[in-house]
Amino acid sequence: MIPPGSVIGILGGGQLGRMLAIAARQMGYHVHVLVPEADAPAAALADRVFVAPYEDLEAVRAFAAGVSVVTFEFENVPAATAEACAEQTLVRPGGGVLHTTQDRLREKTFLAQQGFPVTPFAPVRSEEELAVALTSLGLPAVLKTAGFGYDGKGQSVLRLPGEAAAAWAAVGGGPCILETFIAFECEISVVAARGADGSFAHFGAVRNEHRHHILDVTTAPAPGLAPDLAQKAVEITRGVLEALGVIGVLCVEFFVTGEGTLRINECAPRPHNSGHFTIDGCVTSQFEQQLRAVCGLPLGDTSRLRPGAAMANLLGDLWGDGEPDWAGMMADFPGVKLHLYGKSEARAGRKMGHLTVLGDNPAAAAAAVRQARDRLRTVRASV
Ligand code: AMP
Repeated sequence: MIPPGSVIGILGGGQLGRMLAIAARQMGYHVHVLVPEADAPAAALADRVFVAPYEDLEAVRAFAAGVSVVTFEFENVPAATAEACAEQTLVRPGGGVLHTTQDRLREKTFLAQQGFPVTPFAPVRSEEELAVALTSLGLPAVLKTAGFGYDGKGQSVLRLPGEAAAAWAAVGGGPCILETFIAFECEISVVAARGADGSFAHFGAVRNEHRHHILDVTTAPAPGLAPDLAQKAVEITRGVLEALGVIGVLCVEFFVTGEGTLRINECAPRPHNSGHFTIDGCVTSQFEQQLRAVCGLPLGDTSRLRPGAAMANLLGDLWGDGEPDWAGMMADFPGVKLHLYGKSEARAGRKMGHLTVLGDNPAAAAAAVRQARDRLRTVRASV
């Protein structure tokens, strides 16, 4: 058990690391971060910041030597980085979990071998293999880079046979995975945690709506989802946590098909954007849960504080006409919770922050969070 007062090490310094650092500080832990850039969102919340590329193993060892446990806010760190940390201290989740989940092909192969329902897929390492994979999977299909993809980056949808060459060029020609395009009814995810003692806790199935492949709005619990499917999604997530031997938080994203079946799209062995509503919406947030799990503490109560919750992402696009009207939005929506990640530059598509609203039911919370975000875009005529 790693008690409050100890030092937690976070590899990566984005918004997930920042929110984990906030949870850690609240519980009296010290936070060290290793970040590639000095102005990373988590750096402002850390007691000590190591600015170095993940490949700088000397810096990684120095960082790891000063902490009681290393955890990740981002799974795409090189295996050698996780190994260098493990030479010095406890690493949770372990490097093996990262290795499996940071590559879509390895992840889907592992999940399929373990009997979990994944989208049908085939490996693609060349244009010739793409042609073979298209013959076996059919169209439409999605070609994705196997490694280092997120938020729809490195993806190309194929609808016609003639699009293969362009799709291969679009993803850059490296190792890829071809997946059947799922005409899903909705996308859901389950954020859950496994403690060091094997205990399990989850935040239920939530519904995710994407825009341009980036998460836009999460609604909790998933409205209209049959209770048996929600239960099944939780059971699958529990199985994935156990099969991977995760100590920490993991999110499983699913497609729900019209026939009422679940297909795993992907897993992330860390707190997830679709779990941000838990900060304001649950007794224990996903970040506190991550901290509890990696420190060997008992997992916290995941009950929702209100029957419904919704989260809307604030992307850099919102800054197009200057600073959003925070005060105006707050005046009109006093129940909205604003989270900003302290990023200095608002680029299109960049996650800058999010809003959370709690409500009497999930649909009401989702409607309110969209209205509040729309209000940020409305420039009020100055008097
Ligand atoms: P990913 O980066 O794999 O999470 O993909 C981002 C988004 O692209 C997903 O949330 C879906 O909306 C869409 N997508 C990815 N893979 C598929 C697929 N096999 N079928 C249909 N839509 C997909």
